[in-house]
This record gives sequence, structure tokens and C-alpha cells, in this order.
Amino acid sequence: MNLFSEQIESTQQTGLQETGALEMLRCTRCGRDLVADVVLAGDAACPYCGNLFRQPAYRRIEAIVDSGSFIEIERETETGDPLSFPGYRTKLEKERVKSKMQEGVVIGKATVKGQRTAIAVMDSYFMMGSMGTVVGEKIVILAEFALTNRLPLVIFCASGGARMQEGVLSLMQMSRTTIALARHSAAGLLHVNVLTHPTTGGVTASFAMQGDITLAEPGALIGFAGPRVIEQTVRDKLPEGFQTAEYLYEHGLIDRIVERKDMRETLASLLALHNTERVQWTDKGVRG
Ligand SMILES: [Zn+2]
Repeated sequence: MNLFSEQIESTQQTGLQETGALEMLRCTRCGRDLVADVVLAGDAACPYCGNLFRQPAYRRIEAIVDSGSFIEIERETETGDPLSFPGYRTKLEKERVKSKMQEGVVIGKATVKGQRTAIAVMDSYFMMGSMGTVVGEKIVILAEFALTNRLPLVIFCASGGARMQEGVLSLMQMSRTTIALARHSAAGLLHVNVLTHPTTGGVTASFAMQGDITLAEPGALIGFAGPRVIEQTVRDKLPEGFQTAEYLYEHGLIDRIVERKDMRETLASLLALHNTERVQWTDKGVRG
């Protein structure tokens, strides 16, 4: 089975692109060939040099949340073909078989080191995590679920952008998700985004930049349009490292770059720090 046929357009990225070889990954930093199943069943990092591969959504959830605590919401929700786009139904079926995913995002609730949270994890192995109606709807459902239950929200973003086969219905998801998350935020609830490779297009232009705290994985490509498109538009050479997590951190768009191995601990600390359930409001003030 070829999970890795999609190449991500990037002129700067190293270490995050997969080869087209069947069941093998080539690390683009150290050049070693790795067995895909072994690497992706672990932390999806090169064992020789530490470079990160894209991590499947369910494996990421396993690595982040407390064992047995994850309860998925809307697991069976499937995308239709709202515009009768030629070949879309066949492509969706192939993507489901290839990625073993129903859609490009998994949502649910869980605990992270005992801290309750709503969580969404996008999966770039399903149509490059593109945001169609179902991806948008699931983000909206999770935001409303978190608001109703007064839960914080953690969203792992990974997306190639809008789902072209759904046209304007796909673009509408930008405003829908933005509004749902604004309501969650207005209720004083925490929203943490983790930007993973790649976070681009309509997701960057909506909920990926809406968190109270924005974390990123090392080396992740984060941007709206691809670097080649920007260079052709502005007719100028882009700076070294443009659109990498490191560049955006240096320029203040990201709060912290977190190694994958430290992500669970970091999220647990942030959730505990903002846990309003532990604070008791009294007439004399706050008692911890
Ligand atoms: Zn390597």
C-alpha cells in the first residue's frame, strides 16, 4: 500500500517529505531509507537524525492523550459529493482505503495527564488534510461541544488548504469555523493550536491562527500560498527559511516550537495552568 505518494511543494523543507517508494520512507535530511510501518507506528521521526515525518491522526492521539481516555465524536460522518464534481466520489473512496480514515480530521474528548479537553487532529494522509464541508463541520461541532461542556480546545492543524472539489462550500468553512471558535473564546475558554507540517491555505487563513496559544512542530511548513506562488506574484526572492515554523517563531507569529517528544507534557502544563475547574471563586477573591 502506498501511503506516501503525495509530495508537498516546498523549496525550503528538508526531512519532512516522503518518497514515493512502497512502504519505505527516505529521510531527506540523512538520506536513509526507513520502513514506513515501523517509523509511523512510533513517533514518526527518523531514528538516525530525528527529522519528523507527517504523523497519522490516530497515532498522534495515542501519543498525546491518556491511555483509554479518548472518546471520538462523529466518527462515521462521511463526505458526500455536493457539487457532483467529476471523479470526486471515486477519489474519496480511494483515500479512505489508502489512509484508513473517514475524513481529514478526527475529533473527540480526552484527558491529557488528567486534564480534560476537547481535541481535534487533522490528518494530512487523507487528501492532504484539505478542508471540505465535513472537516469544517467537525471543527464547528467540536467547538460547540467544548463550549457547552466548558472544555478547553486543542487543535492539531495539518492541511493543504481548501477542498477544491467542493468549491465555495469548502471556502465557507473558513467563516463557519472562525465564528464557532470565536464563541468558544468569548466564553473565556482556552484554545491551543499546534501547527504541524504542512499547515497552509484556508486552514491557515481561519482557525489555525485563532488560538490563544499557538505551538508548532520543528520544521513545519506554515503559510497561506506556497512559496513558489508568492515568488511569482511579488517577483522577488523570498528570505531563507520563509514559511518555516522557526522563521515564524522569530517573527512573533508562533508562541513556541515544541519537539514532538515534549508535546504531551507541554499541552498538559498549559491545560493545567488554565484549568478553571480548579479555581474556586469566593466573595473574598480566588482560592486555588
Ligand atoms: Zn534522518
